[in-house]
Amino acid sequence: MANQEDQFKKVVSHAKEYGYVFQSSEIYDGLSAVYDYAQNGVELKKNIRDYWWKAMVQMHENIVGLDAAIFMHPTTWKASGHVDAFNDPLIDNKDSKKRYRADVLIEDYVGKLDAKIEKEVEKAAKRFGASFDKEQFLATNARVVEYKNQGNAILKRMGQSLEKEDLADVKALIEELEIGCPLSGSKNWTDVKQFNLMFGTKLGASADTAMDLYLRPETAQGIFVNFLNVQKTGRMKIPFGIAQTGKAFRNEIVARQFIFRMREFEQMEMQFFVRPGTQKEWYEQWKETRLKWHLSLGMGADNYRFHDHEKLAHYADAAADIEFKFPFGFKELEGIHSRTDFDLSSHEKYSGKKLNYFDPEINEHYIPYVVETSIGLDRMFLAVFSHALQDEELENGTTRTVLKLPAVLAPVKAAILPLVKKDGLPEVARKIVEDLKWDFNVAYDEKDAVGRRYRRQDANGTPFCITVDHETLTDDAVTIRYRDTMDQKRVKIADLKAIIKEEVDVKNWLMKM
Ligand code: ATP
Repeated sequence: MANQEDQFKKVVSHAKEYGYVFQSSEIYDGLSAVYDYAQNGVELKKNIRDYWWKAMVQMHENIVGLDAAIFMHPTTWKASGHVDAFNDPLIDNKDSKKRYRADVLIEDYVGKLDAKIEKEVEKAAKRFGASFDKEQFLATNARVVEYKNQGNAILKRMGQSLEKEDLADVKALIEELEIGCPLSGSKNWTDVKQFNLMFGTKLGASADTAMDLYLRPETAQGIFVNFLNVQKTGRMKIPFGIAQTGKAFRNEIVARQFIFRMREFEQMEMQFFVRPGTQKEWYEQWKETRLKWHLSLGMGADNYRFHDHEKLAHYADAAADIEFKFPFGFKELEGIHSRTDFDLSSHEKYSGKKLNYFDPEINEHYIPYVVETSIGLDRMFLAVFSHALQDEELENGTTRTVLKLPAVLAPVKAAILPLVKKDGLPEVARKIVEDLKWDFNVAYDEKDAVGRRYRRQDANGTPFCITVDHETLTDDAVTIRYRDTMDQKRVKIADLKAIIKEEVDVKNWLMKM
């Protein structure tokens, strides 16, 4: 078993080698925390986006889409609170001159306590064998309970201090826990300061009339400022939602961990507008619905958990993250936030335009409350990709590298392989490609021995290989090989489309929700 760091390095290098993710402007030595999606990556990303869009928009009569511009009137960000409060607490190490997010240093410390708990669980599971009761062990083992309490107390204190803007206490906590610089180990820290994450730019050509703008740090505000337009033109009745996917920009203090934390990234957000007083129910419902969406992809219920926020953002009355077990531990993948009427009220105040809704059922005007679901597309990509990448020991003692992407998300659904490059086999294989490409993204591959081609497609994440051999010329049948089981079956060419569709159809996956 490779350790976490090795496994993560493998993920990064595999993503590059197989055309998924490249560093931006690599020939100029790259740009920190900015990445490009290559030929396979762009397909995987599109498929994840589509999977989300279908589940959220197409399957809900009361949710519609939107594509708002990245540039917005600068007052938007005053109203949303981003100009004054979109800050991260930063701390510098005086010896190594490295800059960190103070909250992340503390969270990583707690992450180490979590890792210790997992070790205790592993050890106990080995010791007790089949009779091991994990829940009971977690609740009663003295050492585990101690780690858990310690972690909770630390996070609680940090949450409260950040809430009160007591940055001196955040520093005191780092010192009390004796947290050292992850690079140098030095404990010589500066004070904690706030740092605004928005990127500024200018609109207009002449220096004196140019307007200061921000690149949007979240897509949500595009939805809020269009709330009434969409409600009126779409004749939407509360409760209803507006969904959008698009780029967001944040000048992250510490941008490491590959596409987990980027400076330019893509969000998939949905704002659900509800009657005031009903937000708690909707919040619980959306937490459940979103978790089900994740589980439908079959990446293992144990790899997800909820984390309820201690420190609430200025706009929220409840918030939770869905965390995923990344190669570097459990981290936020998606946020579900009950945002109250903060945003709409604030835009009403700053714009001077009414943003309220008339509810015909109760004959009242009000500003709706909002429950938001917000997931990073790139983070979801990393979750799917890192979970899929496996080194598998085979019966004959060799290993294969296989990318077990959920078939519905895989960039290439099937590779068509003529067994040899002659005897009319390539022509038959090409014909199959021509036929299947109307429905699926497929590839043709004739280079190298067929075994090597299988391995290449395994590592590429292709769920099916379809091999055309000499018998095909007489029986109109081919061999279909399944990536995950390596099982092979002889099937009629005429049946291929139905067989592939069954496995990659969004409906069959989403029905598992
Ligand atoms: P974090 O605490 O990790 O900085 P956040 O709580 O600031 O994240 P939100 O503002 O709730 O994140 O954004 C919603 C989602 O957008 C996150 O759950 C995450 O998936 C994604 N996201 C946020 N920041 C980044 C980033 N810098 N790079 C990639 N994805 C991001």
